Amino acid sequence: MERLLKDSYGRAIRDLRVSLTDRCNFRCFYCLPHGEPPIASKEQMLSYEEIEYVCEVFVSLGIEKLRLTGGEPMMRRDIETIIGKLGALKQKGLLDLALTTNGYFLPDRAQALKDAGLDRITISVDSLKRAVFKEMTGVDVLDRVLAGLEAAKHAGLQPIKINAVIVRGHNEDEVADFATFAREHNVKMRFIEFMPLDSGHDWSREMVVSGREIRERISERFPLIPVEVERGSETSSRYRFADGAPGEIGIIAPVTEPFCGACSRIRLTADGQIRTCLFSTVEHSLRDVVRTAASRSEVIDYIEDVVMKKEPRHYINDPTFVTPSRTMSFIGG
Ligand code: SAM
Ligand code: SF4
Ligand code: SF4
Repeated sequence: MERLLKDSYGRAIRDLRVSLTDRCNFRCFYCLPHGEPPIASKEQMLSYEEIEYVCEVFVSLGIEKLRLTGGEPMMRRDIETIIGKLGALKQKGLLDLALTTNGYFLPDRAQALKDAGLDRITISVDSLKRAVFKEMTGVDVLDRVLAGLEAAKHAGLQPIKINAVIVRGHNEDEVADFATFAREHNVKMRFIEFMPLDSGHDWSREMVVSGREIRERISERFPLIPVEVERGSETSSRYRFADGAPGEIGIIAPVTEPFCGACSRIRLTADGQIRTCLFSTVEHSLRDVVRTAASRSEVIDYIEDVVMKKEPRHYINDPTFVTPSRTMSFIGG
């Protein structure tokens, strides 16, 4: 009988996000503005063998989607090896192996990722204007990231998703331009609401551009039609262009339109801690369990117990909201 991870609210856990490192070469103001030193020392970080082992166990428990993230996952030199090992889990039930990256290293390495077995890629691009890109990410490399997008296309890592965090006073005026970009480049745009997960703790409600406003800004230029699919555990509400143009729009609105009731995700940090929610205030050290030579069945029992503790939802909109124990680049977005 197939095993399945379920939490105490009956939600099936199918999606694991694995942070490969909490280091990053960018300084996005909504994530890691001051470049705090990494939490995970080399000894604390999971080796690729440990990542392979725990992901294999997770897949045997019904995980179907693995997304590699960080920090900047491509800063990890053994990323191709990791992708190769995890790609082999497709023989064992894994359906989808994806990567989220800031795109910096893609011009030279997109093909190697594809060759190693990567299925899909998401590239973060917060502005199409050089000066705004620099202001938001701390680095003046828009052209290089766009070259990375072309390299990913050329390598066949399609369909490509582009993430843009929309923040009031920075890039909300570019929302419709991003829609034009999606049409011209045949990519899936994902607009993300700013969440209180920045290490500078500068988030404020006024800075959040709501999913509704994003939808309206796009619809003024290009009428949209909802994509007729069961949303299931998908984080984004998806739209296509009414005139049949290529590309797709997705809106991820965790602040104003929470989707926790259908959440199918858990996360593993670079130092091997399971986080059952983006906003968890506690973590569970799978690394310690694995390193104390626990048997496979002990590891499975531990994972099943931890999943039962998954939070019902986030509390961003409650007066009792407590900032999570780690911020985005240390969690793995
Ligand atoms: N470094 C890679 C990148 O930027 O794509 C992967 C890790 S990053 C933490 C994953 C995603 O989280 C990125 O698309 C980023 O824009 C998003 N993100 C980071 N901080 C965020 C925040 N405070 N609110 C919403 N999204 C955020
Ligand atoms: Fe780095 Fe990604 Fe965070 Fe930007 S969003 S600072 S690229 S981890
Ligand atoms: Fe899932 Fe937590 Fe995100 Fe809600 S806030 S969708 S429960 S990870």
